[in-house]
Amino acid sequence: MIIVLKKSATEEEIEHVSEKIKSLGLSVHISKGEERTLIGAIGDEAKLAETPLEALPGVEKVMPIVKPYKLVSKEMSDGPTIIDINGVKVGGNKIQVIAGPCSVETQDLLTDCAKKVKESGATLLRGGAFKPRTSPYAFQGLGEEGLKYLKKASEETGLPVVTELMDPRDMDLICEYADVIQIGARNMQNFRLLMEVGKTKKAVLLKRGMASTVKEFLMSAEYIASQGNTNIILCERGMRTFETSVRNILDYSAVPVLKEETHLPVFIDPSHAAGRWDFVPALSKAAVAVGADGLLIEVHSDPENALCDGAQSLKPTKFSTLMGELAKIAEAVGRTI
Ligand code: PEP
Ligand code: MN
Repeated sequence: MIIVLKKSATEEEIEHVSEKIKSLGLSVHISKGEERTLIGAIGDEAKLAETPLEALPGVEKVMPIVKPYKLVSKEMSDGPTIIDINGVKVGGNKIQVIAGPCSVETQDLLTDCAKKVKESGATLLRGGAFKPRTSPYAFQGLGEEGLKYLKKASEETGLPVVTELMDPRDMDLICEYADVIQIGARNMQNFRLLMEVGKTKKAVLLKRGMASTVKEFLMSAEYIASQGNTNIILCERGMRTFETSVRNILDYSAVPVLKEETHLPVFIDPSHAAGRWDFVPALSKAAVAVGADGLLIEVHSDPENALCDGAQSLKPTKFSTLMGELAKIAEAVGRTI
């Protein structure tokens, strides 16, 4: 249930409504927008049926949330969610670009890449220290050493760090070093993991599973939100189909669909969709045109020798050219990058 408060509602009135809902055994999620405050009452709604919440001071109206996802549904927020990551505002008019190598390899490679992508306009640095590899014999990432390299590159460039968490046992470690916790496609429905990141206040980049519906995607986001963390960035990264000419098929229509369904920011990852660097520019341009709030692009200074996903990684010079092209498309759709 969503309780919409009057513009004139006071803090005491908001508190009174919240306490009333809690006393009935439901949990409360308060969303304070520019215009007005909304209170989400999550739990057994039947208990609210006998309580005339409309009659409480400060309440304008009470609306049911018919969707299975509640906290992440569009109705639940007075406008789009803007997540502030060390001053980088995700979800606003400016399209934010996460760039960097698939996995962290050496300090020099990473710092070099970080400096170059920053110069070209990227606003967040990515790099995996714990890698979800198909083969147990493939490079698994540097673990904590990789996190230290990320921290150093971040300190030198000022770029906040995005890195993947695969196991709740690494939660404290990742939180020490990362600004954004990535949940990879393979873990989109690892519900215990989702609940763990939901207990932090860190921003979470949730990637869509390669065979997940939009509804399942949003239910996974709801798991995170249900634990108190609504700093969630959704990321479409392509899905598995019968087509083999690219690594995955990007579901561009997910962007307008998600914009209709949720207040959360939506990113596109063209790199894992394409699987090859030469398709990344075209997919990125389409992502900006379709209304994505950001991009995640793999960039590597020496892709030929990369330990992971070199084939789909752009060289820094190519990334720089792409950023220039994206600026024109962003302008055409009324945004900046
Ligand atoms: C990645 O970002 O490096 C990654 C492994 O992505 P995905 O989970 O989308 O495959
Ligand atoms: Mn990768």
